[in-house]
Amino acid sequence: MCLFSEIESQKGDRFMRVKVDRDACTGCELCVDTCPDVFEMYEDVSRPKMKVIPEEHEDCVREAAEGCPVEAIIIEED
Ligand code: SF4
Repeated sequence: MCLFSEIESQKGDRFMRVKVDRDACTGCELCVDTCPDVFEMYEDVSRPKMKVIPEEHEDCVREAAEGCPVEAIIIEED
């Protein structure tokens, strides 16, 4: 029971954060096409609309990061 509680609490505390390296971004908009709920264009480069990514968007954020041709999308996970 103790172990179960600990796993539950770790799962509840986990999160994903995402950043875009503005200097590396070429503005190709691929990430916006892949994951429009999370990425948007601002001043010709992409930016995340939120810092902490809701669980339902995590897969598309990973897909966008893998698809970025200049690896400008940085994911941090806890
Ligand atoms: S896919 Fe990469 S280079 Fe293209 S807009 Fe998004 S962050 Fe910028």
